[in-house]
Amino acid sequence: MADRMEFSSTSKRSNYGAANRVDVCVLCVYPSAVMHRVEDCIFCGIVAGSENCFKVYEDDLVVCFMDLFPLADGHTLVVTKEHFENVFEVSESALTGVAALSRRVATAIKKELNPDGLAVYQANGSAAGQTVFHYHMHLIPRREGEGFNFTSRVRGDAATLESHARKLRALL
Ligand SMILES: [Zn+2]
Repeated sequence: MADRMEFSSTSKRSNYGAANRVDVCVLCVYPSAVMHRVEDCIFCGIVAGSENCFKVYEDDLVVCFMDLFPLADGHTLVVTKEHFENVFEVSESALTGVAALSRRVATAIKKELNPDGLAVYQANGSAAGQTVFHYHMHLIPRREGEGFNFTSRVRGDAATLESHARKLRALL
């Protein structure tokens, strides 16, 4: 199971080492140099099943999975299935799907983790902190008095991520 977290070094989509300069996204962590092209898009890889994830939900429009580098315990992503780069490109139907699922997942996170608050982030463009250029929404449980630490994100524990995904699945 531990291998589910590891991206193959031979995978084009996951070849982080190909980027000489690694711009760490404040929200997504993925190096931007390998995420600008659709064919290199890790979220398209997850949708296609060529990249692994800790999946919470999937339907015709959207897919939801745990962020591999959680800003907080329970940090979840809701992603359009079709590749839209940002809010300026996303279709209304996909956007509606993301919004509706985000609400459902937020409710599940609240039931499961009982956070003091829940932040919803959606970045568009490098200047806004976007590095995976495939439309996605962050759902981040927050605790009272807890500060954001965007710069030192670490990979989440596989067992913990799987546990959260399983519990959230059961609540949807
Ligand atoms: Zn994509």
